[in-house]
Amino acid sequence: MGMMSVLMWKWLGIWEWRTSIACVGLVVLAGCLTVVIAPDPEEEDDRTFPQTTLPAVIIDAGHGGVDSGAKYKGVAEKDLTLDTALRLEKILNARGFPTVQTRTDDNYISLSDRATIANRVRGPALFVSIHFNQGSGNDQAGIETFYADSKVPIPSDWSWMGFFTRADPVETGEDLAARVQTAVVLQTGAKDRGIRARHLYVTRHTRLPAVLVEGGFITNRMESDLLKQDNYAERLAEGIADGIEAWWRARHPQPQPKLAQKR
Ligand SMILES: [Zn+2]
Repeated sequence: MGMMSVLMWKWLGIWEWRTSIACVGLVVLAGCLTVVIAPDPEEEDDRTFPQTTLPAVIIDAGHGGVDSGAKYKGVAEKDLTLDTALRLEKILNARGFPTVQTRTDDNYISLSDRATIANRVRGPALFVSIHFNQGSGNDQAGIETFYADSKVPIPSDWSWMGFFTRADPVETGEDLAARVQTAVVLQTGAKDRGIRARHLYVTRHTRLPAVLVEGGFITNRMESDLLKQDNYAERLAEGIADGIEAWWRARHPQPQPKLAQKR
């Protein structure tokens, strides 16, 4: 074996040793990257709204299809909730908020499907469920807003993906409830029944701030008559939109222009 061959052999030996280490390293690195980058199969239908910094609003018209909700003297809750939801969508879109509806026609959607639709939305978002109350005759009236005081953890939140990207714990929606309730009462002049924490499926199983608005009693003749009027129904939807906007603006104050500061 000549000098050249010995050197070549040694070099190859080192090269092989280094290559092995490098290969093992690459395989390990690739494995790690796969864990971090590989999309969770359940997240394939994620919806994002990169064209705006405003939060997406998931609007949930309560009941639908075979589930009429409260019914009184020819008024079905499912029709009022859809009417309010469609009005709210138009108002929010005009103000620049992207929206997602859990239903846009008279269809039955399960509570878990409603939560899934909401949980697929990525980026800043919030959830508003619309319902109407049923009471015993004319003595009960007014608007109230519910939120969940705790959330049920979503299993997919605890993947490795979630471990690396997990942000702060999800807001329950108490402050959103307060702002929506205040704005809706201001717009409609309805009796203020306040906000309350309650264990409701859609507010507990959504991993975003979530509220449920009970926009009045369909068993109260006066409120029921008002809700059938275009003008009142519009103000109810305006109120919900005002509350959402106030909640968002409080978290993201706009910088004041310099000109305004001089005055
Ligand atoms: Zn309901």
